Amino acid sequence: MDFELTVEQRALRKEVIAFAQQELGRDAAADDREGRFPREDWRRCAEFGVLGWPVPEEYGGRGFDPLTTIVALEALGYGCRDNGLVFAVNNHLWGCAIYLLLHGTEEQKQRYLRPLSAGTLIGAHALSEPEAGSDVLSMTTTAERDGDGYRLHGTKCFISNGPVADVFVVLARTGDGARAQDQLSAFVVTSDMPGVVKARELPKMGLRTTPMGVVEFDGTPVPAANLLGREGAGYPVFTSTIEWERSFMFAPQVGAMERILETSVQQANSREQFGRTIGTFQAVSHPIADMKIRLELARTLLYRIGWMKREGRLALLEATMAKIFISESLVQTAMGAVEVHGARGYLTDDGIERELRDALGGPIYAGTNAVQRGILAELLGVRGALSSGGPR
Ligand SMILES: Cc1cc2nc3c(=O)[nH]c(=O)nc-3n(C[C@H](O)[C@H](O)[C@H](O)COP(=O)(O)OP(=O)(O)OC[C@H]3O[C@@H](n4cnc5c(N)ncnc54)[C@H](O)[C@@H]3O)c2cc1C
Repeated sequence: MDFELTVEQRALRKEVIAFAQQELGRDAAADDREGRFPREDWRRCAEFGVLGWPVPEEYGGRGFDPLTTIVALEALGYGCRDNGLVFAVNNHLWGCAIYLLLHGTEEQKQRYLRPLSAGTLIGAHALSEPEAGSDVLSMTTTAERDGDGYRLHGTKCFISNGPVADVFVVLARTGDGARAQDQLSAFVVTSDMPGVVKARELPKMGLRTTPMGVVEFDGTPVPAANLLGREGAGYPVFTSTIEWERSFMFAPQVGAMERILETSVQQANSREQFGRTIGTFQAVSHPIADMKIRLELARTLLYRIGWMKREGRLALLEATMAKIFISESLVQTAMGAVEVHGARGYLTDDGIERELRDALGGPIYAGTNAVQRGILAELLGVRGALSSGGPR
């Protein structure tokens, strides 16, 4: 078993960290306050190649293998102070580009993956609905057959990147077959299609530089050429991508954990009370030790998934564990940092409280952790552990 990164991966890590620290998140505090999408930073990410890291070179990407992609994303999360920008990148890659990569036709890949990799198109994933969150299979958005194509009707909500997105991967109901799993289909829908309405922006607690919104489809005509996979295969298309979303999307959070840990060590060594540095109090130093334990366990789990995907293996069980463990570890680490920093951890100007606000979304998006635990128990053989039967 070889735990060493290659020379190239180590060099890439350094290069990404330098880029992210110098070029990204300069206005993170103000952008967070205003809830502003940092378009200039998005452009910088595109120029640096971030938006095509896992995409093969023939479709305009960098063609990184899965483990190298994880290493790069972790470095991005470590170096970039703006977690919302990184989350926007993640949604673009793992909510949109990955669908085209795994299920797109050659024509779809040429048409959409190239501009997505170049960052000239922004991607989003439109799955959740007002009445269908964890219970994905109960969605009511429909895609009815209309001539050669389909007509889309329905409302999707909580869509990250929604207000600025150009390309949506949309899951919709195409049939009423006996099995709920056969009733959905996946489509590539562009924001310039008639009847696509970016209805409302949704202000939120954290990750405020990733715009989130409600998107309506009011009789949107979608050509059959925009169907991803075959009709009725939307659910398997969705489930085959979620192991990527549940693990790769959380790689930057491991980087963020390391950044927060380092800030906490600095604070423990520099802040003095009672004539000594606060790190000399076990109540301060032990939570920092716990940060490191969580960081290393999270990283090991994630790298293992990178290795498994590179070998072409299924990693659903591991990705489910990673989603739960990394998202909860980040919340605990950010909470610990607030405590170590005292009042400074609570002030908006210092950025520590932002880490906590940003972290709190992780246990909810990509399927809540309660639902993930149900899935995990089912995968372990506990019958009926996930009462809904759905994946999110
Ligand atoms: C920051 C953020 C970004 C998001 N981005 C997107 C996006 O880009 N695209 C998109 O489509 N969606 C997105 N979502 C929505 C997300 O996928 C849903 O919030 C999530 O699937 C849960 O659905 P819900 O919010 O409707 O909660 P509900 O399903 O109503 O759940 C409410 C509570 O009940 C629990 N619960 C429900 N069912 C079960 C069960 N079977 N077993 C145990 N507990 C259960 C949940 O764990 C939760 O605690 C995002 C959400 C957040 C917070």
